[in-house]
Amino acid sequence: MKITGTLINYFFHCKRQCYLFYNRINLEDNSEDVKIGKALHENKFKDEVKFENIALDKITDEFVVEFKKSDSDEVAASWQLLFYLKTLKDVGIIRRGRLEFSENKNNPRKTLEVELTPKKEDRLDEIYQQITELIRLSSPPSPKKTSKCQKCAYFSYCFI
Ligand code: SF4
Repeated sequence: MKITGTLINYFFHCKRQCYLFYNRINLEDNSEDVKIGKALHENKFKDEVKFENIALDKITDEFVVEFKKSDSDEVAASWQLLFYLKTLKDVGIIRRGRLEFSENKNNPRKTLEVELTPKKEDRLDEIYQQITELIRLSSPPSPKKTSKCQKCAYFSYCFI
């Protein structure tokens, strides 16, 4: 099983979303929010770098930069970026991470820096294990309605 940045992000955003995405119950193409996010990515991603199972929005001498439309789930976005940092570190490329959020009303240039520490590397190993166990379940976790569901591509699948 190949862990991807999207799976890591969804694992933090919603366990059910992570399961559904991995098991190819993919409704994302119909989501307006996902379409906007993709358009934003396509415009910004002149510098995208693909490497093994990761796609980096941008890499500089100092940072791996990940562009996000919204800062509504900084935790999920941070762990996705930490996963990229660890994948690079495993092949000898050391960088810090920077998230750039484009649609924060109060601060349209909001950024957040993340750093891979030994503790976070250990936590990533645990996360890989937990994702592996999650996606092998015979059925997805039950849906739980939270504020995160509002813009989720799976909303109608879960609740309508
Ligand atoms: S709609 Fe809510 S419960 Fe369903 S997958 Fe999305 S975030 Fe999870």
